[in-house]
Amino acid sequence: MFDKILIANRGEIACRIISTARRLGIRTVAVYSVADTKSKHVAMADEAWCIGAAPASESYLLAEKIIEVALKSKAKAIHPGYGFLSENAKFAELCTKNNLVFIGPPVAAIEAMGSKSAAKEIMSEAGIPLVPGYHGDDQSTENLLKACLEIGFPVLLKATAGGGGKGMRIVESESEFTEALSSCKREAMASFCDDEILVEKYLTQPRHVEIQVFADNHGNTVHLFERDCSVQRRHQKVIEEAPAPNIKSAIRNAMAEVAIKAAQAIGYSGAGTVEFLYDEDGSFYFMEMNTRLQVEHPVTEMITGIDLVEWQLLVANNQTLPKKQSQIECNGHAFEVRIYAEDPDQDFLPATGKVVHLNIPEQSKNVRVDSGIRQDDEVSIYYDPMIAKLIVWERDRETALARLRGALADYQVVGITTNLKFLSALAANEAFNKLDIDTSLIEKQRQDLFPQKQSATDQSIALAALYIMKRRIKEAKNHAIHSHDPHSPWHQVSGWHNNESNKHQLEFIDNLDNVRVAEVHFQGNEFIIDVNKHSFHASATLDNKKLSAILSGQRLDVQVIEHEQKLHLLSHGNTAVLGLIDNEQQNHDDSAGGNLTAPMPGTVIAVNVEVGDTVCQNQPLIILEAMKMEHTISAPTKGVVVEILYQAGELVADGAELIILNSDED
Ligand code: ADP
Repeated sequence: MFDKILIANRGEIACRIISTARRLGIRTVAVYSVADTKSKHVAMADEAWCIGAAPASESYLLAEKIIEVALKSKAKAIHPGYGFLSENAKFAELCTKNNLVFIGPPVAAIEAMGSKSAAKEIMSEAGIPLVPGYHGDDQSTENLLKACLEIGFPVLLKATAGGGGKGMRIVESESEFTEALSSCKREAMASFCDDEILVEKYLTQPRHVEIQVFADNHGNTVHLFERDCSVQRRHQKVIEEAPAPNIKSAIRNAMAEVAIKAAQAIGYSGAGTVEFLYDEDGSFYFMEMNTRLQVEHPVTEMITGIDLVEWQLLVANNQTLPKKQSQIECNGHAFEVRIYAEDPDQDFLPATGKVVHLNIPEQSKNVRVDSGIRQDDEVSIYYDPMIAKLIVWERDRETALARLRGALADYQVVGITTNLKFLSALAANEAFNKLDIDTSLIEKQRQDLFPQKQSATDQSIALAALYIMKRRIKEAKNHAIHSHDPHSPWHQVSGWHNNESNKHQLEFIDNLDNVRVAEVHFQGNEFIIDVNKHSFHASATLDNKKLSAILSGQRLDVQVIEHEQKLHLLSHGNTAVLGLIDNEQQNHDDSAGGNLTAPMPGTVIAVNVEVGDTVCQNQPLIILEAMKMEHTISAPTKGVVVEILYQAGELVADGAELIILNSDED
C-alpha cells in the first residue's frame, strides 16, 4: 500500500479521505488555498502545502502545481475527491506521466464519460437503454428543432459538457424552443467553454436512481446497490437514500446489471456511479456515469458496511476487490442530507459568513456527520457552500427518517443562513414519508416546505426576557466583585433602589419585524414576566449560554446565542431569532461588537480616534475590512484611548489586539 498520498481537494471530502488514510496508516498531504489556511483539512493532514490564491482557478484547479507538491512531498498517489480535478482526464494523465498513481479510473474511461453525448453513444452501442433523444454532431438550430419535434414536447436541452445542474432547459412547446436553445448555449459556454447541446425527452415525474459500481484491474466488477436521489432543487440533490424505496427487486437487479455492463463497456476500474432516470412504469434509462466518488457515497457505506475510500485505495494499489458480489450485503436504510449555507426562501441563494455557534448531533453507528467546517470557520464566496453532510442509518426507512428528524433537531448553526429548517420540513413531509417521491417533490410540496413565517410565541419572548435579566444579574455581580465596594446595592439590577417600581421593560423585534414587549417584575429570586396577555411565573439558571428555565411550571432548556444584535434561542429543533433594541444589550454581541480585538484576519481601513481621546460607550474606534465586509470595532465602555496598535492600511491577524482603552468606569 502507498505510504503517503496527496489529497487534491478541500472541505469535507478532503477530511473524509484523510480519516480513512489515517486508519490505514497512510500519511496524508493536504493542499490548500490562502483562503483555507486555517481550515479543518489542513489541520487534519500530516503535511499541508499552500498552492495559491483563493479562487479555485488559482489553486485547487492548478494541475501542475499540485503534481509539483506531490513530487516534493514524496506522495505516491493523488486522491482527487469530487469536483475540481476529479473528472479531468488531462490531470489523470499528468499524474501517470509523473509516476504518481491517480486514485480513480483509467484516463480512457474518464474521457469516454466526459461528454454526455459521447457517453450515450457508447452506452447505446452496448445495448443500454437511453431516454429517447438526439445526441449527434449536427448542432444546427433546424436539426435540433427537428429532433425535438420527433421526440415530442416537453423536451430537455442539456449541455453535453454539463454538470452540477447547469446548462439545462425544459422546453414545453415549439414556441419556446429558440429562446431556450440560445440561453442554454450561453450558459453552457459560460460554465463549460463548450456550447454543444443534446436533446432528451423530458420525463415529467421520474426518479433519480443511481447504482454504485466498483471494478478492479483484474477483471472484477461489482455493484454496491443503488441510491435514490430524487429530492432535488434546481436539478441538484438535497436528500439521498439507500436502498431506493418502493422499486421491485427484479427492476433493481436489472438496473444493477446494466450498470455493471456500462462499467465494463468502458474498461472501468475504481469507484463509479451510473445514473438512471426511473419512470413510474418501471422503465429506466441511462443518464450519465460519474467517474469518481460521489458526494452521497456515505449512504452506500452505511448499508453495506464498506469503506468506499478504502476500496478506492486498494484498487489504485492494483489489489483485487475485497469482496465478491455474493458477499456484498444490503442492510437497513440510510439517508443523507446536505446542509448548505443557503437561503431556501430566496430560491436557495448561497450564503456566506462565519459559523459563530455550532452544535452537531452526537455521532454513533447510526449518526454520522461529514464536515470540513468547525465552529468559528468561515464559509467563503470561493467554494461550494456545503457545510456538512448528515447521514443516518436504521433498520428500515421509517425508523431511519425518525432518526433523521431527531438528528436534524440537534443540529445548530448560528452565524450563517442555512437550509436546516427546510431539511427538517422535508424529513417530516408527508409525501416524502409516504414514498410519493419524484424529482418534482420540492416543487409540489411548496406549501408544506416553505411555510409562511410565524411571529415568535409569547413563550419565546418571555424566555428571551428571562435570559437578558439573568445575564444582567450575572454581569452586575461580576462588576461588584471587581469594584471598590462589592456589597454596594448600586450593583444590583433588581430595581430595589428605583423609587417607582421594580419593573423592567424589555423590547425585542420578532421575525415579522414587530416590536414585542416583555415586562419583568422581580419576586425574590424569581420573576413575573408579562407578554401580551400572558403572565409567566419564571425562574432560571444561566450557565454560560445555557438557560435552564421554569416558565409557569414548564421546564425549558434553551441555548442562547447573541450575535449581531440578535438573540438566537435554540432548543431541540425550535429556533427563535429576536432582534435586540436596547443599546445596553447590543454591547453583548459575541462577534466584533464590544471587542477590541480583530474578529478575523483583515486590513485596518480607518482609525477614528487618537491616543488620549476620551471615548464614550459604543463609539466606533477602528474599522476593519475582512472577507469583503466591513467590521466596526467599538468601545465597550466609556474610557480613554491609551494605545493604538495598528494604523490604517496595516494587516491584522485573527484575534490581534487593536487598541488599548483605559476604562474609567469604577
Ligand atoms: P448534471 O450532470 O448537471 O447533474 P444530469 O444529467 O445528471 O445533470 O441531470 C440532473 C438531474 O436533472 C437529474 O437527476 C434529473 O432530476 C433531471 N433530469 C435529467 N435528465 C432528465 C430528463 N430527460 N427528464 C427529466 N428530468 C431529467
